[in-house]
Amino acid sequence: MRPLPIVPSRLISQLCHCLRSPASPQSKICLTMARPSSNMAHFRTCFAKAKHIVIISGAGISAESGVPTFRGAGGYWRRWQAQDLATPQAFARNPSQVWEFYHYRREVMLTKEPNPAHRAIAECEARLSGQGRRVMVITQNIDELHRRAGTKNLLEIHGTLFKTRCTSCGAVTENYK
Ligand SMILES: [Zn+2]
Repeated sequence: MRPLPIVPSRLISQLCHCLRSPASPQSKICLTMARPSSNMAHFRTCFAKAKHIVIISGAGISAESGVPTFRGAGGYWRRWQAQDLATPQAFARNPSQVWEFYHYRREVMLTKEPNPAHRAIAECEARLSGQGRRVMVITQNIDELHRRAGTKNLLEIHGTLFKTRCTSCGAVTENYK
């Protein structure tokens, strides 16, 4: 078994499948506004009309829960750069070392809890779905904190720490051992 690799083509087809809907003039307007802006009043107007909302999250949201990011200067596990270990190639070279690294990360994660930001996003999804509006969360995070907070429409684009894929037959299973 090894950690799930990133599969961009499958992600894109999933995305297209999940987001496929007739484009309305309103959704076009919102897409053209998808540039960085700090205009909250404008955001609220757009958000209030939106039927299909995508929330994108990364390491920042989980940092509040105390999840180590393993990036930058602190990105070491023992004497190795974490990003050099988190690849299928590293696993092929040294499965037991990479497995041990992931085992450590899984143990750390089981001590962490979703924070108010994860819960607010899950609440947003639940509330808007009651209004016939759809929220999709796309995350780079592999910690399952969105899922544990209650988010249902979730794409974990880097997989999760708690799913493994068999290197012989490709079967993907949940694994919390
Ligand atoms: Zn198998």
